[in-house]
Amino acid sequence: MKAAVVRQNPDGYADVIEKELRPIRANEALLDMEYCGVCHTDLHVAAGDYGNKAGTVLGHEGIGIVKAIGSDVTSLKVGDRVSVAWFFEGCGHCEYCVSGNETFCREVKNAGYSVDGGMAEQAIVVADYAVKVPQNLSPIEASSITCAGVTTYKAIKVSGVKPGEWQVIFGAGGLGNLAIQYAKNVFGAKVIAVDINQDKLNLAKAIGADVIINSGEKDPIAAIKEVTGGLGAQSSIVCAVARVAFEQAVACLKPMGKMVAVALPNTDMTLSVPTTVFDGVEVAGSLVGTRLDLAEAFQFAAEGKVKPIVATRRLEEVNAIMMR
Ligand SMILES: [Zn+2]
Ligand SMILES: [Zn+2]
Repeated sequence: MKAAVVRQNPDGYADVIEKELRPIRANEALLDMEYCGVCHTDLHVAAGDYGNKAGTVLGHEGIGIVKAIGSDVTSLKVGDRVSVAWFFEGCGHCEYCVSGNETFCREVKNAGYSVDGGMAEQAIVVADYAVKVPQNLSPIEASSITCAGVTTYKAIKVSGVKPGEWQVIFGAGGLGNLAIQYAKNVFGAKVIAVDINQDKLNLAKAIGADVIINSGEKDPIAAIKEVTGGLGAQSSIVCAVARVAFEQAVACLKPMGKMVAVALPNTDMTLSVPTTVFDGVEVAGSLVGTRLDLAEAFQFAAEGKVKPIVATRRLEEVNAIMMR
């Protein structure tokens, strides 16, 4: 079968090779892959930024149809449509796994990184960790929910936002676009989108943001305080990688507000400790999502509350997508 793998000398691109899959184990399922999204994390893995993963099949936004199951598998049957996600498998027995925080398992395996992923004609998954895709959700859209969707959905959960509260989404690109839709259509928040790209902001407005702010043109902190009636927003989600966005995402909060980091900047941010003491402001991070988070994120998309913007290309064109 054909697979897109990390090059022997990782340079940010993939080689599409002919690869032989090993036989499945008793707890695994073999998938015929339908689609796999390209995530920014794939570019980091392909470039060797997280260690040399030469030969590993890339991809953690995979959707495939179960073709065969191992002898112990009871959770899947042939013909089911399931995910190949970044959270590929946890140990199943540590404190994080048993408390519903399995993405923080110290023995976690990640598709397209520590194990082979979904950018291939076929893939192997651990059956109990593959999440079923609802029947009325297109597999193309489901691929985008498998990483970008569940990641933003979970971050909004972590923010603790309540219906009617102001939430600011910094960065209105691939992640931010989905964050806006989940915040607005699932959590009932009033959403402010901040970006420096007016095209992305116009799209944010079109998909439901209540207010858009171009932070390249005006001070977003002052604008957010004005819009929210003086004190600031209750919560903020950072989907942008610029350091200034993280600092603005704290500065725009009202007392006892919460900032949740999703994107990974390549520098540290400055945080005023008195802000956390006198204003009770919280700063947190959120890492992809659990199997249950993904099942919920799928379901809301299947109900039409969230619609990823997608385009399809052939596996052989993977490097053109990486380049873009
Ligand atoms: Zn990803
Ligand atoms: Zn564990």
